[in-house]
Amino acid sequence: MRNQPLNSIFSERDAGGVSLIDPPTALRFHLLLVAFCAISVVVLCRIAWVQSQLQDRYLTALNTTSTDYEVIPARDGRILSESSAVLATDVDQYSVQVHYRWLQEPADEAWIARGVRKRLSRKERSDADLVNRTREELIAARKRMWSHLLTVTDLSLPAFMEKQQAIQKQVTRIADSVNRRRRMGSTESDFDDTATNTSSDGLLMRMASAVRSALTTPPGTAIAATIVVREEETFHEIVRDAPFAVAARIHEQSHLLPGIRVVVGNRRTYPLNATASHIVGARTVVRDDEPNTRLPPGIPRHEWTARTGRFGVERSYDHQLQGIPGLRRVVRNRRMEIVESNVERQPISGRDVVLTLDVDLQRHAEQLLAETLLDAPAILLSPQENDDSSSPQPVPTGGSIVVMDVVSGRLLVAASAPGFNLSLFTGSSIAEWNAVNADQRHPFISRVIAMALPPGSVIKPVTAIAALESGRLNPDESFDCQGFLTRPDEHRCLIYRLHGAGHNDITLTRAIAQSCNVYFFSAASKMGFLPLREWCDRFGLGRECGIDLPFEKDGNVPGSSGTAAEDPRRFAREALGLAIGQSSLTVTPLQMARVMAAIANGGWLVTPHVVSADGTARTTTDIDDRPRDLSRRRISGLTEGTLARVREGLKAVVQEPYGTGYRTVRREEVAIAGKTGTAETGPGKPDHAWFAGYVPADEPRYAFVVVLEHGGSGSRAAGPVTRELVQKMLDTGLVSGTVPAAGLRKAGRNQ
Ligand SMILES: [Zn+2]
Repeated sequence: MRNQPLNSIFSERDAGGVSLIDPPTALRFHLLLVAFCAISVVVLCRIAWVQSQLQDRYLTALNTTSTDYEVIPARDGRILSESSAVLATDVDQYSVQVHYRWLQEPADEAWIARGVRKRLSRKERSDADLVNRTREELIAARKRMWSHLLTVTDLSLPAFMEKQQAIQKQVTRIADSVNRRRRMGSTESDFDDTATNTSSDGLLMRMASAVRSALTTPPGTAIAATIVVREEETFHEIVRDAPFAVAARIHEQSHLLPGIRVVVGNRRTYPLNATASHIVGARTVVRDDEPNTRLPPGIPRHEWTARTGRFGVERSYDHQLQGIPGLRRVVRNRRMEIVESNVERQPISGRDVVLTLDVDLQRHAEQLLAETLLDAPAILLSPQENDDSSSPQPVPTGGSIVVMDVVSGRLLVAASAPGFNLSLFTGSSIAEWNAVNADQRHPFISRVIAMALPPGSVIKPVTAIAALESGRLNPDESFDCQGFLTRPDEHRCLIYRLHGAGHNDITLTRAIAQSCNVYFFSAASKMGFLPLREWCDRFGLGRECGIDLPFEKDGNVPGSSGTAAEDPRRFAREALGLAIGQSSLTVTPLQMARVMAAIANGGWLVTPHVVSADGTARTTTDIDDRPRDLSRRRISGLTEGTLARVREGLKAVVQEPYGTGYRTVRREEVAIAGKTGTAETGPGKPDHAWFAGYVPADEPRYAFVVVLEHGGSGSRAAGPVTRELVQKMLDTGLVSGTVPAAGLRKAGRNQ
C-alpha cells in the first residue's frame, strides 16, 4: 500500500501527459519524500551501527571459550609397619579412554566434515570425488582404530560394543536434555515479545516494534542449531584398570590409535590382604548419594572420584592419609578444542602412617585364632596335653588376641577372628563378598574393640583390689571354701559343680590362682556393691579406652553410682555376680588388656593406640600436626602393696601346680602371670573362654588377652593359645627367658 500514491502520480502523468499537479498533491508528495528519506536515514544509521558496534560483539561470540577445571589426582599416604611392611598403598591405574567422536555410531556428520576440511586444501575441497573419498577414508580409519584397540587391550567385541553403547546413551541423554532446555528457553522469550506487542496500543507503536524486531532478531537458524555439550568432545573410559603393558603398547602405537589416550590415576591396594584387616581398614570411592566434603571448589562432582576411609586406620587417620588433588584449568573454544591448559595447583600426596603392630606376631596370632575356629589347618597349636576331660571342646564362634605394651599402651597385636580379605573392598568377586557377608559369625566386627562380653573370672583381680583397698579383706587370712556361699544350689565354685568339693582353706593368692568363686562372693558381700563398681570405673571399664580406631564399644558396668547409693541392698546380689565377672558386666578384650597393663605397670591407665606417635613420614603445612594425647593416668587410691598381692596371685595361676593355668599356659623359659576366665553365656550355649595377663611375670613388658567366644573353658581353650603366643614372643626376642641367651636382649628395641 505504501507505493500506491507514487503509482497514482505516474499513472496520472502517463495517462494524461499533463504535468500539472495540484498543490495538495504536491504537498503529499513532499511529505512522502520526507518520510521516505527519514526511514532511509534510520536504516542507514542502523546498518552503520551494526557494522561498527555489533561486529565486535559477534566476533567475540565466535571466539567465545569455556573454562573448566580438571582434577589432577593425588596419591593417598601409605600404611606401614615399623618393620617397613606395606599394609596399604596407592598403585598406578591406567585408564584407557576414547574420544567420543571416535566412538559415536554413526559418526557425527559435522565431525566428519571437519576432518575432511582438515585433510584437504581449499582447492582440493572443490573436487567432489576427492571429498567423498576422504570422507570414506575417515570412516574406515575409525573402524580400523576400533579393531586395533580391541587387539591392544584384549577387549572382546561384545564387551566393547556394550561399553560403546552405554557411553553413547549417556552422552545422548545429556545432549538431549541440554538442547531441550535451550529450546524451551527460546520459545518462552519469543512468546514474551509477542505478548508485549499485542498489549501496546496504536498502529505506530506496533509498526515500530515490528521494525525493531525485524532488524534486531538474529536469523531463526541460530536458534534451531543444536548445542555441542562437553561430553561429546571429550574422552570416555573404555578400560578402567588396564595393565601397564597395555598402557605401554597404546603409547607405542599411538599413530594407529587416534582418538585414544591413557590417563594415569591410582587405586588403593592392600598387599598383606587379610593381615590386620580390621585395623588397617579400607578406603573406597565416595558414593553418589553420600556428601562429598572434599570436593575442591569449582569441581563438578563427576570429575573427581574422591575416596574416603570406611573403617580402621584408613578412617581414623583419613585426614593424614588423604592426598589433596591438584587442579588444572582448561580453556576450550566453541568446538570444544583445548586452546589453553595450565596447572593451577599441584597435587599433594597424603602422609604415610606407621602402625605399632608387630606384623609377624599379628600374623601368628591370626593363624592361632583361625586354627581354633577351624578356619585353618592346625600347624601352630599342639594337641592338648594331659587333657583329663572327655568332653570335646566347643568350636568358638569368634575370637580375639591383644598384645599391648604395658608402659606406653601401643598395641603389638590386635587380632580378630573370623577375618576377611581387604581385597573385598578393592573389587573382588561378588560371590566372595556375599560369602563373608552371610557368615553368621560377623567377620567384619573388630572384636578387639567392638565386642563386649562378660569377662568371667578375669575380673577377679579387680574384685581383689576393690576388697583390699576398701579394707574389707585381709589377704593372709585363711578362708574356708566349702564349694558354695550359703546354699549348695547357687553361688558355687566350679570344682563343687564338677566334683562336689570345695577349695577348703585358702588365702588371696590361692583364691586367685585356683579361681575360687566363693572367696570372692564372700569378699563382695563384705564390701558391698559400691566399691566394686567404683573400682571397675577406676580401671576404665564401662567407657571407651580412647584407642585411635573408629567404632570402639564401651561395654557395661551395672548400676550407675547414683542409683546404687540410693539403695545399696538392692545391689547386694548384683555385687556377687559382679565380683566374678557375671551379672550385666561386659568388657571388650581391649579394656581387659588395659586392666592387666595397669596391674603390671604399677597402676597407670594407658591410652591404647595402633599408630605410632611419631609415625608420619612426610610433613606438609596443610595438615593438623597437633600431637595426639597418649598420656597415661595414675589410678587414684591404688597402692603398691595391693598391687603386689594381686600380682603374686596372677603369677601363681601359671607358675604354681595348683593354678588354673599351670598345665596349659606355663612355659619353662619365662614366668607368665595371668588369669583364666570361663564366662557363662546362658543356658545351652558354651561359655566364653578368656585368658588375660602379662609377661614376664616379674618384669612385665606386655599385657595380653586371649578370648574365644563360646570357646568353653578359659584354661583348656584360651590357655594353649596363650602359650603359643608367648612362645612366639620368646622366639622373636620380644620377651627374654629367665636364662637370657646371647642375642635375646634385642627385645630392648621396644623400650
Ligand atoms: Zn572355692
